[in-house]
Amino acid sequence: MPRDIPRSMKKKPMSFLPGLLLALTLGWACIAPAFGEADHYLCDEPRPLQKLLSQRWFGYEFPVRVYIPPVPFEVKQPEMYMPLVKTAFQSWTEYAPFATFTFVDAPKKANIVIEWKSDFKNEDAWGMAYYPAIYQSKNKILRHRSKIFLAIKAQLGSGMTVNEPVYFSYDELFLIAQHEVGHALGLNHSNTDGDIMCGGCSDMMGRMMGKITSRDIQTLKFLYSLPVKIKKHPCRI
Ligand SMILES: [Zn+2]
Repeated sequence: MPRDIPRSMKKKPMSFLPGLLLALTLGWACIAPAFGEADHYLCDEPRPLQKLLSQRWFGYEFPVRVYIPPVPFEVKQPEMYMPLVKTAFQSWTEYAPFATFTFVDAPKKANIVIEWKSDFKNEDAWGMAYYPAIYQSKNKILRHRSKIFLAIKAQLGSGMTVNEPVYFSYDELFLIAQHEVGHALGLNHSNTDGDIMCGGCSDMMGRMMGKITSRDIQTLKFLYSLPVKIKKHPCRI
């Protein structure tokens, strides 16, 4: 399960070479000019090929159906949360128009379900999400499902708090939600500061930083452009 590790500041060397080799071997360069050089972070956290190819939504699953429940805790601004998460989903669509979502009124109708938590207690994360997991529906169609866990407060010791858990502001929770939607779309962590999918990026106060960058979008487009029958792993693992 992808997790956020806000306290970690560790950085790994970037992997330009696999991306370059990949662009050459797969002819990905044909879609690259819009972004310049082939640059994605799929190999920052490489997964086995079978997982890489299956942990993404089929074209016919878009728009993916999402259920966002009301926050089940007492909060100052209960009306803030549902539109916040909705906007986080839509912000991906803005940059990657193929990744569309529709919002449904019951978990049974959804393929991505949001679950609210008060905070993550002893977990080293501010949000969590499953990669899309494949399953066969009742009418024998292959589909995916995912779940995103969001908290309304930062837990003790996670860098943001002093003595007691504090409520995430709109901006903080929005970044966390954007990041978790990235996982629910099949994206792994990036090692580069500034990407919304950076796994260990935080400022001195432990607050998460980042926004959806062209690398986030390039990586998403690259993931979805990999042919189903590809035999060679793009990261050569
Ligand atoms: Zn994460």
